[in-house]
Amino acid sequence: MSNYQFEVSAFNNLIAFIIGTCIGSFVNVIIHRFPLNESVFHPRSHCRNCKSIIPWYRNIPLLSWLMLRGKCSKCNSEISVIYPLTEFLFGILLMLNNYCQSANLITISPILQKIMSGLLLSILFSLALIDYIYLWVPKSIVNVGIITGLTYQTLFMITTTNIGSLLLASEHIIAAFLGYITFLLISKIGSYIFKKPSMGMGDAKIAALLGAWLGIKGLGLSVWLSFFVSGIIVGVGLILKLIKPGQLIPFGSFLSISGIMVWVLGDKLVVSLILLKPLDFFN
Ligand SMILES: [Zn+2]
Repeated sequence: MSNYQFEVSAFNNLIAFIIGTCIGSFVNVIIHRFPLNESVFHPRSHCRNCKSIIPWYRNIPLLSWLMLRGKCSKCNSEISVIYPLTEFLFGILLMLNNYCQSANLITISPILQKIMSGLLLSILFSLALIDYIYLWVPKSIVNVGIITGLTYQTLFMITTTNIGSLLLASEHIIAAFLGYITFLLISKIGSYIFKKPSMGMGDAKIAALLGAWLGIKGLGLSVWLSFFVSGIIVGVGLILKLIKPGQLIPFGSFLSISGIMVWVLGDKLVVSLILLKPLDFFN
């Protein structure tokens, strides 16, 4: 387990926020091009309406949208507020990453931990948004998350001489399989009972990803939180007639956001929040 102090300063937070808005900007590209089967790198950023290429100085995360007041400089068509909002949210998320003391990642260097943690947050954040917008979990993104998580843990298992690290790493690998198999079973049983697909394979893959990164306890907490929160939202939605019976729910978004919460806040704080005793955590 890592025992180091990452110094959180205003400067570190500013840097994390700026990097976060840049990643957010890239996440925007993924969100809008991936489902259309367009390349993430070509063509360069362009206006969705007039197709004119956006020069780099008009493509600065957050600032450009504010300076252009949300309009394309060529054709004056509106640029959705979703873009700067995604950049802003991700900036905040990466700033929170500075405070995250996740014991789930055994590491030799604080910088490596921040990078790995930032990668995980980028993946979960993109998955949450894409599943919410398109009801779809892109295989390539979730696979990157599973493979990096498992590779990282395996490398640690092979190289460590510390028995604690060895146990933690192997527990994460087991958790990945457990997560996948559990959701596979839920999906099969659901299809059998309801005679139609009730939970996608994408959800099983997100569960594997969460297992690899968060371990058994973190996975269990994230899954519990997802069912609990989605249950409340669907219940209220049905009562208010905002959701139709049988309507598909982006469960992958709930899983991803719960995973982000457990990762950033840590197992203990999430447990005390679930028990509605957040103050116990700080005492
Ligand atoms: Zn335009």
